Amino acid sequence: MYVVCKEHVELAIDKFVDEFEDAPDIVNLDDAQFSDWERPIKCCMNCEVEAQFLVV
Ligand SMILES: [Zn+2]
Repeated sequence: MYVVCKEHVELAIDKFVDEFEDAPDIVNLDDAQFSDWERPIKCCMNCEVEAQFLVV
């Protein structure tokens, strides 16, 4: 699973496909419900931008 900003969504999709050989689901964090999981704040691609999407 990757938590990324808008700019890194495509990169995350590429990594996901490389790793799992399957197409990921893209979830907009603004649309997601987080009952038992705290929303990640920052993009996981070594950038400081606020995370916006989950690639799972
Ligand atoms: Zn980013």
